[in-house]
Parts: sequence; structure tokens; C-alpha cells
Amino acid sequence: MAQPAQTKRKDQDSALDTSNSSFLSLSDADESVNGSGKRGHGDERDEKKASKKKKKRRAKDAGSAEVNGDAASLKRRNSLSKAARDPRDEPSRKKRKKAKKEGVQTRSPSPVIDFDGLSRPSRGTRERLEESPEQAAERLEKMRVAVRTIMECVGEDPDREGVLDTPTRYAEAMLFFTQGYQQNVKDIVNNAIFHEGHNEMVIVKDIEIFSLCEHHLVPFTGKMHIGYIPADNVIGISKLPRIAEMFSRRLQVQERLTKEVANAIMEVLKPQGVAVIMESSHLCMVMRGVQKTTASTITSCVLGCFEKKEKTRNEFLSLIGLSRGQR
Ligand SMILES: [Zn+2]
Repeated sequence: MAQPAQTKRKDQDSALDTSNSSFLSLSDADESVNGSGKRGHGDERDEKKASKKKKKRRAKDAGSAEVNGDAASLKRRNSLSKAARDPRDEPSRKKRKKAKKEGVQTRSPSPVIDFDGLSRPSRGTRERLEESPEQAAERLEKMRVAVRTIMECVGEDPDREGVLDTPTRYAEAMLFFTQGYQQNVKDIVNNAIFHEGHNEMVIVKDIEIFSLCEHHLVPFTGKMHIGYIPADNVIGISKLPRIAEMFSRRLQVQERLTKEVANAIMEVLKPQGVAVIMESSHLCMVMRGVQKTTASTITSCVLGCFEKKEKTRNEFLSLIGLSRGQR
């Protein structure tokens, strides 16, 4: 579990100046988890073979780090392929490391695209995808009864004329709000990946997102901005919003939604890098709890060259109108 984060850290340390940006810290938090989803769950065998050696080495590294502690892993990072660096140039490494390790431990790794492309599958996901019309009717009825119960519990009379059909309507709406459970990335992308030799940043911004907070089953809505830098291959531009839509039509937390979209694009397209930023307003925060109606939550996930190069990251931020100065 800790291995991918380990290797990631290697990349980052060589590339970052970590002094300031708040975005950086946001995305750092995301990445510590990404590592686990990004590699190792791919379904293609070729990829697996190719990365087998690397993995072995990673596993070895992680093992020795656990035994020998931080000092050992620091030493190991100075590989021959990298320029010698003065240790004083590298700010507070130990702290960063610890923070990351904790981040990895507190969240479980969730495979982003599994073998059947359903992404984060559960028994229910499969059942829902493969159900017969009879089973679908049964599911709806079960939900209808449950909603009726909720209505009774809140003090409403479910037999009152105005709300007679509400349980059915709500059940159907709920199935629509969560239809992402029966979609998968491969069907959505549907081979719309084209070899264009294009290597400049592509951005789709202001993608409207409607999702359900998994803690309260209350909506959160907002906008997502997706950018990537192709490695020759580009993806049909309409596929990006559709991937975002698929993951948002599930029970979500915004952090994971952001991360899943970025990882999915990384996996299907294998670009040089992906950046996803989402800003949204959570009704569970607006309507209850702290009741801050203007608060918006921003999450980001940057992978590949967006993670490694601050310049690239900043270009993306300024293109979507979220650069440091403006916020
Ligand atoms: Zn909530």
C-alpha cells in the first residue's frame, strides 16, 4: 500500500519547490492516495508485465524503508541518474514524508478502473448492471416502500393525495442520480482515442457536476475543469464531461470524485499529464450544519507532468481562471 506513494515522493522531491501554493498542498493530499489507484490495477497484461520489474523494486524499497526508517530511504533516493544535490537544498523532507505516510494509511486504496471497467465495483454494482426487468421492478418497489417509510417517519401522511406518487417518483429519481453505477469508462470512451501527434494542453472547463454526498445523500453541485497534455493521442473531447458525469452519478465525496476522474483519464488515455479541479457547493453544508451558503469547496488532482512541473500546473490554473493572484 505504501509503495506507490514511495515512488511518487521520489518524483516530487526532484521537481518541486513546495514553498507556497495552496493548490499544491491540496493536490498533494490527493496524490498520496492516487498513487495506489494509478498503477497496479490496470487491466492490460502488457502493462503489468512492463511494470513488473519496477514493482518488485518498489516493493523491495518499501520493505527496507519500513525496516530501516526514514534515513535509509533518504539515502536510496540519490540514484546515479540524478544530479548530485546539496542536502541543504531540500527543505524539511522528513516532515513531508510523515504527512504523506499518514495520508496513505488513513484511506483505503480504491481501484479506479477494474477489469470490467465498472470502477470501484461492489456486489450491488454488478447486480444493478445485469438485472432483468423483473429484478428492476423489484428494486424499484423496495425503494418505494423505503421512501414511504421515510415520509411516515418525518410526520407526513403518505396517503395524502398530493404525495401519493412521491415514493415512486423519488425512487426513480434516485436511480437516475446514481446511474453512474451501471456505466463504465470503457463503454463511455468507446475507442474514441485518436492519434493526432498533438502535444499541447487541452482543457475543458466549467463542466457542470451534480453529485450526491455519500455522507448525507444530499446533492453537491459545482463545476469541474479538466486539462491534459496528450502524448500524441487525444480523446474525443465530449468524453471528458461524460467521464466526469459517470463518476458524479454515484454516491461521492468531492475529493474522491476529483481523483477518480483524473485517474480514469490517465488510465484510458495515458497522456503526459492530467489535471482536474473541482469547485462545488455542498447542500449538506448549506442547508444544515454550518449553514454557510457561500462557501465553496475546491479540490484538485494533478498527475504526470502537471504534478512534476509547476509551470505547467500554473498555466492550467491561469487558463481556467484560478491562478494564484486571482483567488
Ligand atoms: Zn454531506
